[in-house]
Amino acid sequence: MKKHNFGAGPSILPQEVFEQSAQACIEYDGIGLSILEISHRSKEFTAILDESMALIKELLQVPDDYSILFLQGGANMQFNMIPYNILNEEETANFVETDIWATRAEEETRLYGKTNIIASSKVDNFTYIPKDFTVDKNATYLHLTSNNTIYGTEFFDDKAYPIPVVCDMSSDIFSRPVDVSKYHIIYAGAQKNLGCSGITLVIIKNEWLGRAKRPKSKMWDYSIYAKNNSLYNTPPVFAIYTCLLTLRWLKNLGGLAEMEQRNIAKADLLYSEIDRNPLFKGHAVKEDRSRMNINFIATNPDDEALFLEFVKPYNIHGIKGYRTVGGFRASCYNALPIESVEVLVKAMQDFERSKA
Ligand SMILES: *Cc1c(COP(=O)(O)O)cnc(C)c1O
Repeated sequence: MKKHNFGAGPSILPQEVFEQSAQACIEYDGIGLSILEISHRSKEFTAILDESMALIKELLQVPDDYSILFLQGGANMQFNMIPYNILNEEETANFVETDIWATRAEEETRLYGKTNIIASSKVDNFTYIPKDFTVDKNATYLHLTSNNTIYGTEFFDDKAYPIPVVCDMSSDIFSRPVDVSKYHIIYAGAQKNLGCSGITLVIIKNEWLGRAKRPKSKMWDYSIYAKNNSLYNTPPVFAIYTCLLTLRWLKNLGGLAEMEQRNIAKADLLYSEIDRNPLFKGHAVKEDRSRMNINFIATNPDDEALFLEFVKPYNIHGIKGYRTVGGFRASCYNALPIESVEVLVKAMQDFERSKA
């Protein structure tokens, strides 16, 4: 029996994506070949790539003056590629530090230019998203992390700032409609909401291609990927195929507005129980609570190990909190069905009863 998978990433994908991608490993679309053995220049793969890009453009309503790129190396590679491609040595990037991923992005950026952390919730254990900060108008860009996977905070408004915005959306991309025009770069590792690990999505405003003046390695140059439709070298064919299957699933169920409603329903259900049940307490402040990664702790620290043991018969997987936060983290990505959240809520209620 399949487990209720609350793992933070790589994470659950729609069941039909598991089935269709497994079938494609045996034989892709009746062509007598596996997806794993076809050329990345074949007409079959070209069709997969084109449809993936078209669906991303359609679902996110990406404006025409943006390029959609498929890269490798995860979001961590983008912590480097973004400043390498955008920031000149004498220029400054602003950061809002909301999680250790934002910290990492800032640290890597120092290798290429100047950085300034203009707001941080680190001293408060990243329980909130800082809101009262002033952007340095002379900075080249502002870097944000829309969903903070480890600490469970998220922002939902695509605000306009006086300088271009770069956003790490690794853990909430495709979970809600996004106003892409408010960002110069959106980037996301695929393995939370988009597909399997091994592929990274970058959406970049065309006017920024080739911006930084340093001589660039071709493999690290966004404009090479844009010019070659992300086929400068062999891309991860299978990983892109899992993205396509997930994107088709998203479109069929009604797109991002419908996805957002489902995600709200799941998050509301779990947060209500966390707030109601005296044995548990949420980590993030209410107004910044993530819909994707729901962090909570046991009110009595002794209950932490007990509850992790208690949920095993419920077939619940992956709710242990990240090592620096402790407690529990229930990741409720797009593909997690509400039925799984219902099982977790039931386990929390049964746990309460078992202690009464
Ligand atoms: C998972 C995650 C990362 C790390 O992604 P990799 O693909 O492992 O490099 C970075 N940022 C955020 C917000 C994440 O959720």
